[in-house]
Amino acid sequence: MMILEHAAVEPFFKNGFVLGCEDTGEGVIIDPGDEVEQLLDAARRQRLAITSILLTHAHLDHITGVGRAKAALGVPVWLHEADNFLYERVVQQGFAFGFRVEAQPPVDHFYEMQRHEGHEGFEGALRFGRYRVRVLHTPGHCPGGVCLAVSRDGEKRAVLFVGDTLFAGSIGRTDLPGGDMDTLLRSIRDVLFTFPDDTVVWSGHGAATTIGEERRTNPFLR
Ligand SMILES: [Zn+2]
Ligand SMILES: [Zn+2]
Repeated sequence: MMILEHAAVEPFFKNGFVLGCEDTGEGVIIDPGDEVEQLLDAARRQRLAITSILLTHAHLDHITGVGRAKAALGVPVWLHEADNFLYERVVQQGFAFGFRVEAQPPVDHFYEMQRHEGHEGFEGALRFGRYRVRVLHTPGHCPGGVCLAVSRDGEKRAVLFVGDTLFAGSIGRTDLPGGDMDTLLRSIRDVLFTFPDDTVVWSGHGAATTIGEERRTNPFLR
């Protein structure tokens, strides 16, 4: 079983994740925010060698811990290029929400999107141990939003880390800069809903869900 740890703290209660390969001890951190110390503790406790910091998007709650994670781990930060304008304006995002936020170190790599199977995706060097990470472009909550589909080599089933694209019983807000409701609904239907019903979905806020549960009961998607 893949090692999976998550943490969320006030004020945003945004989920940050540590994933690790149970065979090799390599891992990644997803969306380090204010809970970054818990994520780093979890990585240490699990004796993981973290190789990348992967961002689902660049709203402030998902990136306030990037600098501390990078300082502790010395590994590259990945983001979709279309969200870099948000990333570079994290201090101003803080002002807009009434928080003092520090500037974060520059992004090291942008996910290079390629078109395949009708949508934009990236499946380059992103691996940890025996796991691969497919990056699916799912704009709508913001222009550079991505979902990360993590699968073990030789296995078809994936676990999805969807940022603020989809929540248990809800969807991401679309009233922030670059947000668009039609685009978001299309991303969910055309990209996420191609996964089987039993696919586990970890969202940026709140509890985990499954594709089938949201397909059946999510009021925004019926
Ligand atoms: Zn967001
Ligand atoms: Zn969020």
